[in-house]
Amino acid sequence: MVGARRPETRWVTRLIPLFLAGCVGFSTHVFVKRICVDFYIENRKKSHVATAFLAVYFAFMFLMLLTYFRVFLVIQFDPGVVPLGRLAVEQKDRERERRKKNGCCNRGGDDLEANRYEGYWPDPNVDSPGLERFYSKDVFICYTDGRPRWCSSCSNWKQDRVSHCSEIDRCVKKMDHYCPWVGGIVGETSFKFFVQFTFYTAIYCIIVLVAAGMSLQEALQEEAAVDGFVIALLAIGGFFGVFTFAMTATSVRYICVNLTNVDYLKAKTLVHQLAIRVPRGTPPGPNYGVITYPLPKPQPSPTSPQPSDPTATSEPVSTRDLLAQRTFAVVRTEKGENPFDIGVYRNWKSVMGNNVVDWLLPFNRSPCETFENNESFYEMGPLIQELRVRFRLPEIPPTEKVGRDVELSELNGRGKSSGNGKGNGNGNIGEPGATGL
Ligand SMILES: [Zn+2]
Repeated sequence: MVGARRPETRWVTRLIPLFLAGCVGFSTHVFVKRICVDFYIENRKKSHVATAFLAVYFAFMFLMLLTYFRVFLVIQFDPGVVPLGRLAVEQKDRERERRKKNGCCNRGGDDLEANRYEGYWPDPNVDSPGLERFYSKDVFICYTDGRPRWCSSCSNWKQDRVSHCSEIDRCVKKMDHYCPWVGGIVGETSFKFFVQFTFYTAIYCIIVLVAAGMSLQEALQEEAAVDGFVIALLAIGGFFGVFTFAMTATSVRYICVNLTNVDYLKAKTLVHQLAIRVPRGTPPGPNYGVITYPLPKPQPSPTSPQPSDPTATSEPVSTRDLLAQRTFAVVRTEKGENPFDIGVYRNWKSVMGNNVVDWLLPFNRSPCETFENNESFYEMGPLIQELRVRFRLPEIPPTEKVGRDVELSELNGRGKSSGNGKGNGNGNIGEPGATGL
């Protein structure tokens, strides 16, 4: 379970469910007792109206609560955070030890040694664990130098669509936003259920507003006394109705264009840098650089006294090593181009599921969570091919593709033996065999 760092946020996140439970309890009391039973059944003798209201009210309350519990539990137990890198784990262990020694009130933070990995950005180790997960793909998001993005707080390589959440101080897959209303960080694992929850809550509020509005109008027409509880219900229903309707509309828009809230804030100006695979040994082009993996070992300076590993510079390159080499062109998209946009309908299905039942009920997870492909971390759209044409990138020859299957199965087999498939590209960063900095 990953909680917010700031104590005030933690308390707000804990108290909001109680506040919401109070609102639903109050609404149910006013709706059932005051509007349906007292007003429509006893005063107006319109039991058919009351029955219809009660049926839709409880149906949508059930769906609202079902989706709420689903999103809340997913956020508590599987929020889609990326495992910490080895150095971050070591730092946390050291902090824990220090707190034990100094007493629980000393939170530390002044230990420079504890933050030593912060200066290494990104990990300079050419065999950095987790790196092979990137260059075993055909395309991934990278820095200008062709290396994947790095999170210095979590000490790990950030696979595509991972963002660091400062509120919980962890990297999160397809991070959307921190939402205290549903108990924490909304991201890849919870976004579908979050949208369903806001959708059903908006409908629930509309039902409440219609029933409260109708009963109030009838009472006013007959110049009967106006119930203050019904006025309060209108206010609560109006507030949550507008809020959840706006959230639903915004979230649906994000899904249709395949952006998260984080992406959307900078969507118009964001430029992606992509490493796109090209034939092995391709030289840099007029408008793109290249990078070849595995990265070359650093050459010792001629003035250095004794290299610690004299074989490092003269290590013969085997045929197998050559076959495992992959060259990537580093290219930039234009502003606002989204490589993950695969068309509205497929964008929608990648989050909401493949059929209407999936779209409406909060049981199956988003298909994008389990997307597994040798080409990229997430399904990518036609923009990649457009970039190949735009930058005149050479096609990979069939001879290289033949070796690729062998090399991929080896690389992926290596990755999977230490991690567990997609999404845990950084899971093997903390492996014992990792070379230190
Ligand atoms: Zn991070």
